[in-house]
Amino acid sequence: MSAELISGKDLATNIKKDLAVEVEELKKQGVTPHLTVVLVGHDPASESYVKGKEKACAETGMGSNVIRLDETISEDELIQTVDKLNKDDAVHGILVQLPLPDHIDEQKIIDLIDPEKDVDGFHPVNIGRLVTEQEGMVSCTPLGIMEMLDSKNIEIQGKNAVVVGASNIVGKPVAQLLLNRGATITNCHIYTEDLKAHTKMADILVVAVGKAHLITADHVKEGAAVIDVGINRLEDGSMTGDVDFENVKEKASYISPVPGGVGPMTITILLKNTIIACKRQENVE
Ligand code: NAP
Repeated sequence: MSAELISGKDLATNIKKDLAVEVEELKKQGVTPHLTVVLVGHDPASESYVKGKEKACAETGMGSNVIRLDETISEDELIQTVDKLNKDDAVHGILVQLPLPDHIDEQKIIDLIDPEKDVDGFHPVNIGRLVTEQEGMVSCTPLGIMEMLDSKNIEIQGKNAVVVGASNIVGKPVAQLLLNRGATITNCHIYTEDLKAHTKMADILVVAVGKAHLITADHVKEGAAVIDVGINRLEDGSMTGDVDFENVKEKASYISPVPGGVGPMTITILLKNTIIACKRQENVE
């Protein structure tokens, strides 16, 4: 058996076309969704993510700008910047690129962003809304994963979903989204004693750890849907996921690749979230 590929790249391209149409319609009503990204310092990975976000906004006709701040900026100055953006009616989405320099309390900054403009979905209010199934902003990578599963009509209700990795930004929210859709969830982490015993039970297996090829064919149930979130750089500079793609694809029914899987979906959902935030703030459809 060879699994069907879930190409996040193709799906993202299609979603972006729809978003461009939606932006066009909003512009006719005099509204342009606008995302502001705050970048502190010059971390090369962050610089590259921010460039990708700017490019994607431009492709869909949305407005965007990047506020670049020196890495020596004080916590108070960053607080003032976020406060200004919260009050700026022209800004619908605020994203503070993480990580922040060590002298700045990351959670304090996240807590300060207006939950209605929190397009990353990291604010505790939005996490609470996710858990209690209320309308809010849901973080981009987890939502992208759900769209990937839905694009193939993969059944979720009543299925065993196992998420490996329990971070606040990927593992926990995706487990919650799967629970909200009626899956029976298991969330594995560093202290999980027998990882294989859990993953082998999974109809849906989501892996978000950051360890190249942690998941081998032995970990996977025949016919499972496998989503690989991991991004790992190999010595030769190439990128690979947390799943041993070549061997697991022979056992799974669906599998997402790295690169070209979850990555492109994350940025696309960020655009989608900004449009949702814009519509709610401007009271337009
Ligand atoms: P993270 O904050 O480092 O979390 C990793 C999680 O994996 C933690 O919960 C950790 O457990 C768990 N873990 C570590 N070793 C494990 C093991 N051997 N078995 C089971 N669980 C283990 O990372 P993250 O931010 O969630 O990101 C995870 C991966 O996804 C990274 O490679 C990241 O680059 C990638 N990522 C990709 C996208 C994308 O758009 N494609 C977006 C975000 C992240 P403890 O909490 O107990 O330590």
